Amino acid sequence: MPELPEVETIRLRLRPLLVGRTVVRAHVRRPDIIGFPSVAGFRRGIAGRNVAGLERRGKYLVVRLDRGMNLVVHLRLSGHLEVVGGYEEVRYERVRFELDNGKAFSFAEPRVLGRVYLVQRDKYPRALAGMMSMGPEPIHADFDAAYLGARLRGRTTPVKNLLLDQRIACGVGNIYSDEALFRAGIRPLRRAGRLAKVEVGRLARALTDVLTDGIKWCGTTLGDGRYRLPDGGAGSFQKRLAVFGREGERCRRRGCDGVVRRQRIGGRSTHFCPVCQR
Ligand SMILES: [Zn+2]
Repeated sequence: MPELPEVETIRLRLRPLLVGRTVVRAHVRRPDIIGFPSVAGFRRGIAGRNVAGLERRGKYLVVRLDRGMNLVVHLRLSGHLEVVGGYEEVRYERVRFELDNGKAFSFAEPRVLGRVYLVQRDKYPRALAGMMSMGPEPIHADFDAAYLGARLRGRTTPVKNLLLDQRIACGVGNIYSDEALFRAGIRPLRRAGRLAKVEVGRLARALTDVLTDGIKWCGTTLGDGRYRLPDGGAGSFQKRLAVFGREGERCRRRGCDGVVRRQRIGGRSTHFCPVCQR
């Protein structure tokens, strides 16, 4: 599933292709991909809208339109966005936005789990309640040791689970939570409220750093190839992963002879080095 660095990479790549363009009309290939409003309302509402900017909130891509509207895209497991030629066909295409320059903005999603929403900026529907209750962006300055410490205090849940809670650290998923815990030297199963102050500080910094690095390397494209850049290329952070997906392999930290272990926590696979992480 694309996490913050993947969606941010997509945003940066799409921005020059979309900003300033006008959506002529939308072709909805699968009605269930429209999360809000009705399909008819969606098609009517988006026609003629100009793209003013591209933003991101957690794992959501937000296309800012004129007249106070936003097109919100949630990629979920395998959503893919690209700008293609007007006559170019796209496999698994669910919605296609015809643009005023003869090209098209296409949303493909083999699993049909992803959604698009057309909303008024000041009036988000209940379907996007999860987006409204999101915590701060972990790559921004307001996500610091004091904030994270306050959110973890008194909690008996494994710290890994809390990092996946979008109300605490939005945009973080399985890959970057494992990598952040490795960098901070903390075992994923530790009770969140039992972390020492110095550990919380290390964790807040590690989260910011690992997400920033993920963006720098254009995200993580795993063997399933689900995440791709809009031009079809792959990200390269997968070559730099320390623990995620490396079960049974030697720890990458110099001088450590630990072997990466995998464990199920709350239904999710978690990877860690038993030597480096305490
Ligand atoms: Zn190690």
